[in-house]
Amino acid sequence: MRGEKGEFWDPEVELLSAEEIRGLQLRRLKETLRRCARSPFYRRWFREAGFDPESLNSLGGLRALPPMDKDTLRSVEPWEFLTVPREEIVRMHSSSGTTGRATVIFHTWKDIQAWTELGARCLYMTGVRRSDVFQNMMGYGLFTGGLGFHYAAERLGAMVIPSGSGNSRRQIYLMREFGTTVVHVIPSYALYLLDVFSDMGLDPRKDTRLRIALIGAEPHTEDLRRRLEEAYGLRAFNSYGLSEMSGPGVAFECPFQDGMHVWEDAFIMEVLDPDTLEPVPDGEEGELVFTTLHREGMPLLRYRTRDLACAYPGRCRCGRWHRRISRIKGRSDDMFIVKGVNVFPMQVEKVLLQSMGVGTNYQILLEMVGNREEMRVRVEVTDELWRGDVRELKSLQKRITAALRDEILVTPVVELVEPGSLPRSEGKAVRVVDMRKDLGGE
Ligand code: ADP
Ligand code: ZN
Repeated sequence: MRGEKGEFWDPEVELLSAEEIRGLQLRRLKETLRRCARSPFYRRWFREAGFDPESLNSLGGLRALPPMDKDTLRSVEPWEFLTVPREEIVRMHSSSGTTGRATVIFHTWKDIQAWTELGARCLYMTGVRRSDVFQNMMGYGLFTGGLGFHYAAERLGAMVIPSGSGNSRRQIYLMREFGTTVVHVIPSYALYLLDVFSDMGLDPRKDTRLRIALIGAEPHTEDLRRRLEEAYGLRAFNSYGLSEMSGPGVAFECPFQDGMHVWEDAFIMEVLDPDTLEPVPDGEEGELVFTTLHREGMPLLRYRTRDLACAYPGRCRCGRWHRRISRIKGRSDDMFIVKGVNVFPMQVEKVLLQSMGVGTNYQILLEMVGNREEMRVRVEVTDELWRGDVRELKSLQKRITAALRDEILVTPVVELVEPGSLPRSEGKAVRVVDMRKDLGGE
C-alpha cells in the first residue's frame, strides 16, 4: 500500500519512520516548551518542579516534569494556561463531565485547523472520500465529538449531515433520504438504533447505503464492534480522543483494525504504571499520558488520561510507524470493586455480547442486600426470545451467570428484561449504577 497515490491523506507525515517521528517530536517538544514559558501556569509548574525547559535535549528529558491530571486542570483558572493573548482564542470546548466538574480547553484558529487536519487524516485512513455522505450523530456543542469531525469531514470534501445526537427515527429518515454512507456515532447508541430500525420494519443492511461507521467516545468491546458490523453491513473503526487533547482524532484504527494509531507527530504518548508513574513495556497495560506537540493556545504536558490500554510495538501492515494502542479497557475509575474483586464493565459486556439472544442494552447495578454486596446485571434480550419459550430464557440466564462467574470471579444476579425497558442515554452510556453509596447517609 505504501506510496500508492491517494492512499494517504498526508503521506509525508503518515509514513515517517520511527526514528523520523522521534526527531520531529523532539523539535516540536522544544517549541512547545518555549511556548509554555509564556503561560503563568507553566512558569510556576516548571519552577516548582525545578525544570528548565531550555535545557531539554531528549524526549526522555520530559520525565523530569511531574505528570498532571484533571485535578490539576480544575485547580487552576483555565486562562492561566494560555500561551497566547486572550484575543487569539477562537473557541472553547469542555469535557462531557462524565466524572465530576468539566474541564475547559481553549483553541486558537490554528489549533482548530490542526485538529481538523488530524480528523481528516483519520477519516481518510478508514476510506472516507469526497463522494461520501457523512452523518454526524455525535452531540454538537461543548462536547468535542460533534464539531471536531464535522469540520474534518468537510475538509475532506464529504457532504456532512449535522444530525447531532438523539431523535432516532429522524436519524434513520436522514440516512435513507440522503443516502448516508458514513456515520460517526457512539457505539452504545448505534446498537440501540438497531431496535429502532427493527421497530420501523427496516433492515439497515438492505435499507441504507451505510459502509463505514466511526465509533468511539466510550469503551466498547470487540464483540460490540463485530455485532455492529454484522447488523449494519459496514466496517466500524474505533476512534479515540478526549477533549483535553482537542477531541476525537488522537488515535484511530486503520483498515487493518489492529490497534489504533496514535498520531505521534501531534502527541507524545507515554504508557505509565498508574501507581509508580514509571513507563511500562510495550504490550503491558498502563495509563495513557499525552503531551500536545502542535497545540498553540493551551498546550498540555504529560496529561494523565486515566485511560488504560497497552502499546503495540513495530510497524503496522498499513505501512505506518505511528505507534498503536489496544482498545481502551476503560478508565481507571470505571473499575468497581464488588465482594473484594476488581471488575471492569467491559468484562461484563464481552460475556453478554458473546451470548446469543442478548439484545441491545444492559446495566450493572451494585447494591447492598442486608450487609451483603450484590451485583445485579440487567440484560435486555431480543424480542424473539422475550416472546418465546420461558425455558429458553431460563437457560440463557443460567449460561450468562456461569460465564460471568468465570470471567469476573463473582457470581452476579442476572436478570433478563424486556427489550427497550432499560434507561437509555443519548450520549455516553451509563453502564454502572452504584447504589451502595446511597446508604452512606451523606
Ligand atoms: P469526559 O472525560 O468528561 O468523558 P470527553 O468527552 O473528553 O469527556 O471524553 C474522553 C474520554 O472518553 C476518554 O478519556 C475515554 O475515557 C473515553 N473514550 C473516548 N474514545 C474512546 C474509545 N474509542 N474507546 C474507549 N473510550 C473512549
Ligand atoms: Zn495501520
